[in-house]
Amino acid sequence: MIDIKSLSKTELTGFILDKGEKKYRSEQLFSWMHSKLARSPGEMSNIPRSLCELLIRETEYTALKTVDVRTSSEDGTKKYLFGLSDGNVIESVWMKYRDWNSVCISSQVGCRMGCRFCASTLDGCIRNLTPSEMLDQVYSIQRESGERVSNIVVMGSGEPLDNYDTLLKFLEIISDEKGLNIGERHITVSTCGLVPKIRSLAELRKQITLAISLHAPNDEKRQSLMPIAKKYSIAELMDAVKYYYDRTGRRITFEYALAKDVNDSIEDAAELSRLVHGLNAM
Ligand code: SF4
Repeated sequence: MIDIKSLSKTELTGFILDKGEKKYRSEQLFSWMHSKLARSPGEMSNIPRSLCELLIRETEYTALKTVDVRTSSEDGTKKYLFGLSDGNVIESVWMKYRDWNSVCISSQVGCRMGCRFCASTLDGCIRNLTPSEMLDQVYSIQRESGERVSNIVVMGSGEPLDNYDTLLKFLEIISDEKGLNIGERHITVSTCGLVPKIRSLAELRKQITLAISLHAPNDEKRQSLMPIAKKYSIAELMDAVKYYYDRTGRRITFEYALAKDVNDSIEDAAELSRLVHGLNAM
């Protein structure tokens, strides 16, 4: 079955023409799926019944099931647990600020990166998410909250650059002006540091923000926290980061979670300061 919500605009047009339908039907469909956020073909009121039946018969229409929602009493942040069609579950988070809001989404069920401070990796990577499963986390939250999602961070479970092609498809569809039209500058992708993929992404010159999970100022400490650091040294990571900045002009974000007596000494701070000195970074 074709996962229809994962199709790019061009692929969707190809699919519709293949079925003997007129091209404008693909535009209607794209709008129903990615702008009006229809939960099923049955909601698409201006497409003919025969096409609706064809969609039900021949395609898989992703619509995540909300399994649980927990709301923080402090700031209203909502954590969503979404059920996938194969029974797996993933987490997303909705954060509301004064002038904007942000949704944090997952890119995989689990993760194989093994960072020691992260619960998402305990059972390894079960599978990659599809583009439609990444998209529908945003769509479901926008529908449920009734508010337009303004920002996205791909920082939930999973390493997004380990699901690279899906990530690119997600970015293409979510930023399409006929879809939710969320501009690349409002999207942050967080990585533990897959150096070759950072370089590939740099070549595309996208305007997204790249966030690097650093968490330690030197190789020894980083290797004790993050297995990926054994594969790529901090020097290689920093080279890739500089390359990313050179190609895109986008300021890099570094993430550093403090763990008591692990990476939070004055010496760590001084070493970190030397490491990022001169970089256009946050
Ligand atoms: S890459 Fe992200 S999701 Fe994966 S183990 Fe590390 S912190 Fe967790």
